Amino acid sequence: MKIFFPKEAMVEKRISITPDFLKKYIANGFQVSIEKSMGEHLGFLDDNFKELGAEIVERKKGFLEADIICSVNKLSEEDLTEIKENSLIVSFLDPFNDQELVENLRVKKISSISMELIPRTTRAQKMDALSSQANLGGYAAVLIASNILSKSFPMMMTAAGTISPSKVFVVGVGVAGLQAIATAKRLGAKVEAFDTRPVVEEQVKSLGARFVKIDIGETEETAQGYAKELSEEQINLQRAGMKKACSNSDVIITTAQVFGRKAPVIITSDMIEDMQPGSVIVDMAVGTGGNVEGSVPDENLELNGITIVGNTNLPGEVAIHASQVYSANIFNLIDEFWDQKNSILEITTSDEILSGCLVTHKGEFVNSMVKERYS
Ligand code: NAD
Repeated sequence: MKIFFPKEAMVEKRISITPDFLKKYIANGFQVSIEKSMGEHLGFLDDNFKELGAEIVERKKGFLEADIICSVNKLSEEDLTEIKENSLIVSFLDPFNDQELVENLRVKKISSISMELIPRTTRAQKMDALSSQANLGGYAAVLIASNILSKSFPMMMTAAGTISPSKVFVVGVGVAGLQAIATAKRLGAKVEAFDTRPVVEEQVKSLGARFVKIDIGETEETAQGYAKELSEEQINLQRAGMKKACSNSDVIITTAQVFGRKAPVIITSDMIEDMQPGSVIVDMAVGTGGNVEGSVPDENLELNGITIVGNTNLPGEVAIHASQVYSANIFNLIDEFWDQKNSILEITTSDEILSGCLVTHKGEFVNSMVKERYS
């Protein structure tokens, strides 16, 4: 079976296969082709891949011959015209915001797996790309903020006096938020955090941070552990409760997302105005609508001396490690369903992982949320 790893668009530094994983595909009996110079910018040269058994090909040839195509980002409409019917593509597909692509895949009878939709189960943990990327994103967010902030994170007691630690407030304590807290603590900052899911309080405390308690009434979470959307009244209570923590903070990192929906606006302009000039806000939800009023995707804005970072690809800031863990997620997914003896990928739509992450298969929608939205 032929598996192809195309080059990503220029702005994307992450890749979907690193040489270590190429060895594993070859050992499993795959014929692997890699688009020319796909990993060069990270120091993974074509020759490195070639020596390990890959064929280096032009993009068009890769698409025409492949049975499976893996990438970080979704393919273009033009790319899809080159792909064989019944082949499988695996990538972040953004299925709830790109109906055209999803329809196109269904009509062209291309099977597709969306890495955003890997279920949050123990069996699927090793394939969970949202988590592997959010973890590195949380780390990168803190480093970017500390670079922009003209203060040191740790407390320093020197002969010239005592420097007080910087204060970091993390809003949303999922995978990214937990890593942001851990990273800020390691750098010596004083850290506070808030999440609408009360279960998170213990995790925040175990990292040595303070949990900001705000009574917003009953909150719910899905079976997958995702927060459900708050009412407008609850959001207002949350904003009022966070006001003090925000105005005291040198850095705010927001990671609050609601799966499959627009992110809630939590930090409003009046809350930003109360912050000290020189403070920094990193809006990690900027790609899904933004938690911070006025944040702009892929721009650093300055408002009254406060910088609002809108980086939509924070994992890409640590692209080698992000590629390493993403390659692992993809390999583990394919390996789970690979029948090496018969050289077939067993795609069973009743499997609990595949029924979640398959968007299209044999001309039908599979994932229930996608089916509900587009049928
Ligand atoms: P996410 O990226 O969807 O959201 C980030 C965080 O924002 C969540 O903790 C959410 O509760 C919070 N949030 C939403 N609305 C908010 C608001 N108005 N104010 C403040 N916070 C708000 O979530 P995620 O990081 O993908 O993880 C969600 C949960 O799933 C976590 O508990 C995580 O540990 C768990 N998880 C489990 C598995 C597994 O079991 N295999 C894998 C990954 C994650």
